[in-house]
Amino acid sequence: MSYEFIYFDLDDTLLDHKSAEAAGLKDIHAHFDFFDEVSAEKLINVYHQVNSRQWSLYSQAKVSREELQRNRFELTLKELGLNSARYEEVGNQYMQFYRNHWQWIDGAKEAFYKIVEKYPVGILTNGFAETQRKKFEAFDLYHSAETTVISEEVGVLKPHPDVFNHATELAGVDSDNILYVGDSFGSDVIGGTKFGWNVAWFTENGEPEKHEKAHFVFNDFIKLKNLLKV
Ligand SMILES: [Mg+2]
Repeated sequence: MSYEFIYFDLDDTLLDHKSAEAAGLKDIHAHFDFFDEVSAEKLINVYHQVNSRQWSLYSQAKVSREELQRNRFELTLKELGLNSARYEEVGNQYMQFYRNHWQWIDGAKEAFYKIVEKYPVGILTNGFAETQRKKFEAFDLYHSAETTVISEEVGVLKPHPDVFNHATELAGVDSDNILYVGDSFGSDVIGGTKFGWNVAWFTENGEPEKHEKAHFVFNDFIKLKNLLKV
C-alpha cells in the first residue's frame, strides 16, 4: 500500500490530552477551597461522566458548544453537591491549567517529524476550534502540517462523513491513498474506514474484532515509523 497523505488525530494521538485533563482538574481541585469537600479523584470521575455525556449530546447537535462548555462544569459541581453558580470561574480556570500540561505523547514527536520529512501530513481533530488552534500554535503544527481540519469549523464532528470528505478534498488525493492515525475507535477507525481511508489505530487494547476494522494497530510510535519506513 502506498500512502500519499497522512492525517493525524490530535488529542491522545499526538498530544496527551487525557493526562493534561487530569492534571488540569487536579489543579482546579487545589485552587478552589470549596473542592475540599470532595477528593480530586471524585472530581475527575464525575467530570469524565458529565463531559462525555455532554460531548455525546454536542456531537448529536443537542447542545451547542457554549452549552457544552457551561454544562460540563455546572453539572459536575451540581453532581458533587457544590455551589454550581461558580461554573464559569471554574471552567475558565480549568482551561488555563489544562494548557499548562499539554505535551506530546511518548514517541509521537520524533515519529511525526520523521513522517513529515517523507509525506505530506495533515491534522484532523474534533474539539473546540479555539483550543485546538492554540495547540497547533504551541506545538508548531501549522508549519509542518499542510492541512488542519477542526470539526467545529466543518460543522459536524467525526465520525460524520462530511468531516472526512472535507479533509480529503483539502488533501487533494483519493480517499484510499490516505492513512489516518488516530486513537478513537468510533471517531477515527469507524469514521475513517467508512469513508475509504486506511486507518492506523493507536491503542493499548481493543478486542480482536475491533482490530480487524483497522488496517494497522499499534501501541508504540516505533511501529508506525516502521510501517511508513521512516
Ligand atoms: Mg483522539
